[in-house]
Amino acid sequence: MYTERLINLLFKDQVHNRAYYENLYKERDVAPILRFAPSPTGYLHTGSLYTALINYMLALKDNGIFYLRIEDTDTKRTVSDAYEMIERDLNYFGIKYENDEAYGPYFQSKRKDIYQALVIDLLKQGKAYPCFLTEEEIKDIKSYQEENKLRTGIYGSYAKYRDILEDEAIDLINSGKNYVIRLKSLGDFKKTFKIKDALRGELELHQNDFDVVLLKQDGLPTYHFAHVVDDFLMHTTMVVRGEEWLTSLPIHVELFQTLGYKLPKYLHLDSIMKLDNGAKRKLSKRRDLEANVSYLIEDGYPKEGIINYLMTLANSNYEDYLKENASNNYKIFKIDIKKMSKTGALFDIDKLNHIAKESLSYMSLDELFISVKTWANLYSKELYDLIISDEDKFRDILNIGNKETTKRKDFAKYSEILELIKPFYSKYFDKMILKLNYSKELVESVKKAFLSTDFTDETIWLENLKETAFKLGFAKNKKEALALDMTYQFADFMRIVRNLIFRRDNSPSLYQVISILGLDEVKRRLGV
Ligand code: GLU
Repeated sequence: MYTERLINLLFKDQVHNRAYYENLYKERDVAPILRFAPSPTGYLHTGSLYTALINYMLALKDNGIFYLRIEDTDTKRTVSDAYEMIERDLNYFGIKYENDEAYGPYFQSKRKDIYQALVIDLLKQGKAYPCFLTEEEIKDIKSYQEENKLRTGIYGSYAKYRDILEDEAIDLINSGKNYVIRLKSLGDFKKTFKIKDALRGELELHQNDFDVVLLKQDGLPTYHFAHVVDDFLMHTTMVVRGEEWLTSLPIHVELFQTLGYKLPKYLHLDSIMKLDNGAKRKLSKRRDLEANVSYLIEDGYPKEGIINYLMTLANSNYEDYLKENASNNYKIFKIDIKKMSKTGALFDIDKLNHIAKESLSYMSLDELFISVKTWANLYSKELYDLIISDEDKFRDILNIGNKETTKRKDFAKYSEILELIKPFYSKYFDKMILKLNYSKELVESVKKAFLSTDFTDETIWLENLKETAFKLGFAKNKKEALALDMTYQFADFMRIVRNLIFRRDNSPSLYQVISILGLDEVKRRLGV
């Protein structure tokens, strides 16, 4: 147990005590309370967006609170504009966190006094102590433990300062020695305890016996301590976080008990996995581009597609929901913990593309137009210039193939649009080379026949076209070609026309292509 003598030396400027803060953060009359607690160390990881989304959806489902806590206590790793990026990205995806005095966003770096007040109390109770182990000493302990195949860390006899007397501590501090504050663990690693994880069920874990650091040399808390203090004071009802924290759970449990705080519920999410040469591994920040949310955005994936895709990873029945609702409003979906994967959700680009296509097809023309234009303005000057050269034309192109009930699904991301639409613009079309494996005569006769049709009405035109083609020797279909022993069929006719006026074997509805180009341009392309 330490007294004011040590406390005053360590925390000269402390104003408030533990009771003050506990009183400030009164119990809340809402449930559930969930949070997203990113460390602002760089771009938003796809896995973090996934975690944020699940927390948000769990809060939404039961009209709870979803708040944001920026865990910026690792000053060496904190990137200066990372918070702005997190804020921007969450807003972009429509993930709304509380934004008022009561519910943050909280910044741990601004809460130093709170953690200190708690630490002071623990020091006074003899549940924490100043530790003067140098980095060198800690390294040596670790090497020794590794060599002898022991658990690495500061525990038991390695925790050299755990019984340090107040006078000794004061002397060391006065002599200028650096220190951290550690928990004086009372746990016994040989003993186990049971705890329920909302996803994984009951777990049996070893008690913690590490004298973990509570406050670092810079006076800021470690993740462990800040997690416990903050999630208690903020009254988080369920901590939903990545499975990488599962191994630290015994530490957290001991810390909650040491502080006399009630444990929140826990749910440890599976990491998003990736198939790499047939083997599953974690999606990696360093190796996988798709692990970076801004990469996906820049690459042209619609945000609706990304969110819908992550939702399908979270709950497998979400795909049915999408189909039934044909809408990108993910917020009405009731997320269900029971339907979450326990075996590592697999990030599958083909599936993402599929969901992205579906998501694009749920957009209204206006929404799609604005989204593409906004994206192009940021990431593709070439596409942007095309769009603004004639916005109505671009809208018409986007609208091709769309009917009341069915929508075109030929692109998954905005970046694919430019290639698809180039033939609509003469500056590209004129540079495209005509490649056709039909005789010149046949092509010429197709050209003439095509121009002789009546373009006024699509259905009549198509019938007319088939008749005309038949007279030229193109069977109406494969069956007829076989029966009448004809070399060519209507598909060949259309391929010739498409290539003549669009330079593609496949184009969107030819009639709509013609309507957008206008007959004059069609004729120009045909050279008549
Ligand atoms: N800052 C931690 C992280 O980014 C948060 C973990 C948690 O949600 O408690 O992994």
